[in-house]
Order: sequence, then structure tokens, then C-alpha cells
Amino acid sequence: MQLSTTNWLHRLGYRSLDLLFPPSCLSCEAEIDQTSLDDTLCSDCRDELLASPGPVCQRCGARVPEVSGAALTCPRCEADKVHFDATLSLGPYDGLLRDLILRMKNDRSEQVGRMFARLILEKRGDDLQQMSIDCVVPIPMAPWRRLVRGTNPPEVIGRQIAAKMGRSHFPHLLRCRRNSLPQHGLSRPGRFRNVRGQLHVARGYSLESPHILLVDDVLTTGATCSEAARILKKQGASRVTVLVVGRTSDA
Ligand SMILES: [Zn+2]
Ligand SMILES: [Zn+2]
Repeated sequence: MQLSTTNWLHRLGYRSLDLLFPPSCLSCEAEIDQTSLDDTLCSDCRDELLASPGPVCQRCGARVPEVSGAALTCPRCEADKVHFDATLSLGPYDGLLRDLILRMKNDRSEQVGRMFARLILEKRGDDLQQMSIDCVVPIPMAPWRRLVRGTNPPEVIGRQIAAKMGRSHFPHLLRCRRNSLPQHGLSRPGRFRNVRGQLHVARGYSLESPHILLVDDVLTTGATCSEAARILKKQGASRVTVLVVGRTSDA
């Protein structure tokens, strides 16, 4: 991601430059009001990212029709029997959220990932506190991909969330067993088959019935998170809640 010179200087801590070069929005580059709660986003972009998506499936985070008072599960979750128990997301994977997630994938400065972590805590912090999470585990990235991209966004977000919640962050607990084919372009059943056996729990970890917060950037079919939840539960986890930035609507 290309950072403007002023944003780059602000990141280095030159706060006195605010007077000469007011910080600009990470997304639309509009000047940020000095009274803003956030020094990376303008109020319009913040409001858009924090908007409510409406009712969603408790299990996978997909949007569902509005039915008053009911905790809904979508037909796909009832049919697929995914292994995770619940999903929290910042919002639907479209518009501004989608643009910023795509930027985050190659953001070696980790600025976008940290910004998403702050927004997630602001929007879903109460839900997370009520869930009694024991630890935070990010979905790992294949080593060659990590080398190319220079950063693993779920790890950036997981680290910030764990620190703010006062929980342990285990970025090396899950490992990629092999460099599998990418999920992109595969059918829904193909995605579930493709990830089978791809992840494993690293040696040296003992899971004594923890409730794990599993962090990923985007949830599409849920195949990767379901496979991670399956092996975490096989190793002793009692509950797995998925936390993602964006939830696609086409799965
Ligand atoms: Zn903006
Ligand atoms: Zn669902």
C-alpha cells in the first residue's frame, strides 16, 4: 500500500506536524477533523464502516431475513454443519470495506489491519467481552505467501484484539501443513475438500477446553475456519468463535 508522505510522517510520531499537515483519511484522503475520535479515518468513512448490516446468521454471519426477536441460523449452516460455533464480523464484504480489505492484504506497514482492529473493538467489543474468550488464534498464511506479502492480516488484527482484551495471542498455534491450492475459483464443496488436512496444531500447545477466538480477514464459505475449528476441537478446544473483517454475501 502506498502511504502519502504526511501519513508516513504521522506514523513516525511527528504529531506537531498536525498543524502544518493535518492527517488525511486512510480511505478517501479527506482532511481529518482535529476533534475526530480517529486519526486514520474521516467521520464519513468511519460511519460507513461502523454501519449495522442488519440481522445476520448467529453461526456464520451471513445476512438473513428480518424476523423479530429470533436468533437465526441460515439454511446453509443447518445443511453444512460447520465446526465453528459463532461468527462476528465488522460488516458485509462490499463497498469501502472490501476496498480496504484488499489494501490490507499487501499492507506491510500494518496500518489498515490496526485500524480494522480498532473498529472491530468499537463495534463488537461488548459482544466479545460477553463471550468469555480465553485466547486469540489467527488463521496462518502459507509460508511462501507470507514471504511475498510481508504480513499476515489476521495476525495483525488478532494481536491488537488480544492485547486490548487482555487475552493471550497465539499466532503460531495453527500451522499450514502444506502449500495448498488457493480457494479462489473452487466450488463450495471444492473449497471444503481443498482445506481438509491443510492445517494442524503446532507441537507444544496443550488445549484444555478453551474458548478460542479464531481470526481471519474474510469469510466466504467458511471452509477454512471450519477446518481450523475442527482440528482445534479435536485437540481439546471447547468452543470456537470466528472473528472476520468482512463477510461475503454469495456463500
Ligand atoms: Zn474518508
Ligand atoms: Zn449461517
